[in-house]
Amino acid sequence: MSGFNFSQGHQFINGSWRRGTGELLIRINPATGEQLEEVDTASVAEVDEAVQAAAKAFEIWSALTPGERSDHLLALARELQSHAQVLAEVETAQTGKSMRMSTEFDVPGSIDNVNFFAGAARNLQGLASGDYAGNTTSMIRREPIGVVGSISPWNYPLQMAAWKVLPAIAAGNTIVLKPSELTPGTSLLFAQAAKDAGLPDGVINVVVGSGASVGEALVRHKQVRMTSFTGSTQVGLKIMTMAAETGKRVHLELGGKAPFVVFDDADIEAAAHGAVAGSTINAGQDCTAATRAYVHSSVFEKFTRRVAQLMDAMVVGDPQDPNTDMGALISAAHLQKVSSMVQRAVGSGASVLAGGRRLEGPGNFYRPTLLVGASQDSEIVQHEVFGPVLVALPFETDEEAIELANDTPYGLAASAWTKDLNRAMRASAQIQAGCVWINEHIIIVSEMPHGGYKSSGMGKDMSQYSFDEYTNVKHVLISHDTDTHREWQNTVFLQR
Ligand code: NAD
Repeated sequence: MSGFNFSQGHQFINGSWRRGTGELLIRINPATGEQLEEVDTASVAEVDEAVQAAAKAFEIWSALTPGERSDHLLALARELQSHAQVLAEVETAQTGKSMRMSTEFDVPGSIDNVNFFAGAARNLQGLASGDYAGNTTSMIRREPIGVVGSISPWNYPLQMAAWKVLPAIAAGNTIVLKPSELTPGTSLLFAQAAKDAGLPDGVINVVVGSGASVGEALVRHKQVRMTSFTGSTQVGLKIMTMAAETGKRVHLELGGKAPFVVFDDADIEAAAHGAVAGSTINAGQDCTAATRAYVHSSVFEKFTRRVAQLMDAMVVGDPQDPNTDMGALISAAHLQKVSSMVQRAVGSGASVLAGGRRLEGPGNFYRPTLLVGASQDSEIVQHEVFGPVLVALPFETDEEAIELANDTPYGLAASAWTKDLNRAMRASAQIQAGCVWINEHIIIVSEMPHGGYKSSGMGKDMSQYSFDEYTNVKHVLISHDTDTHREWQNTVFLQR
């Protein structure tokens, strides 16, 4: 896999590399503004070929024992580990994120996920078998669904590929993955690693192209039994509608607007560090990033002063430099979106305490930004910026803090900062989000689920819970009644 240069194309179908016959896309290096590569895209016919390959491979893959599938995944983890450096390099080149992020977060996180699902594959859960109707045995079978079509975003391309592919194949499904057309590299290397690890051809297929062409063809395909999607709420809702046409299962991991609640008894120094790391991780292009800090009025000034200080000290620039804290945003268009949202917030009365500007020169770099003075109903507080921008707003009572935290359409993640156990427990119960961190923000673990409430989606990634998404639950009932006319049948017709 080392040094793979995609010269054979950007489609990985039935274990072979292919040049797609769809339109050609030019990818720009986010950190330099220079051309990175040309990306060929799949035609609708090539999407169909990938689905056919996955359907064929399903016959073999679904028939393996969980232990056999687990062995394959452990081999995949070893393969990825032995190419950790090249994976990190491609991840940084295509996204503009710092090498520190790629080597310390994206790559090891993805490999840990593979190892977790290798174990989880052998540990499917269900209700106890038993005689629930008298003279019968009921049992649960958990079965794979078939071909899964997955669509992933550009912010954590390798991790998102892992989150989509692993629970699907661990449960015995096969997959066609469409990564973001902006960042196909590491998803393709992931598929190559699976081939090198000995997974059968067709179990993992990758087709590259835009959402409107390749994405829609995959969602609409009749033989795809499930669509799992990670991306924006806007596209996710559209996918739900499209998937309804063929009645397929949908799994949606969508946008977020995480609140960060700081009570008056919080360790302000820890909260300030948590807010800076939580809002600027991956240049803020993180669906769980801290975006709205609700801070008790008595500690508001102390907190915001410290956050601004820490943000101002951050090193933004060359992703290759080990000193760099924050790399580039994904594209010039996205930089423009982030910058315009901050400008509109300032135009509506917000003040900039840190950042609020792009770096001069090439590359899509934006300084970590802290805003105050925005109103709760403003665009910057209600809508996803997906950049390194934190807005701080004061509150007076615990009830008000929770109400404000819940006051957006999103519900992916949140944090509350306090030393008071009762407050911590109340906040964790009352905040409407799929994850509530107490005195922490961002940490994810393979063993625990990730997924949203409200407009942040439905279903869980990671953990045993993700098997619920990728398996059908079947009830099998076996009668061992020796009577020819069974007692319950008298309700329907009497024995005469
Ligand atoms: P996006 O919704 O624009 O695109 C996501 C994927 O969908 C891409 O592969 C894209 O090509 C595809 N797509 C676009 N239109 C499509 C269509 N009509 N049919 C089928 N596929 C289509 O999102 P993005 O800009 O790539 O990623 C950022 C978004 O992802 C943010 O909103 C972020 O919050 C979200 N996200 C969520 C999670 C989570 O776990 N909840 C994780 C990461 C990112």
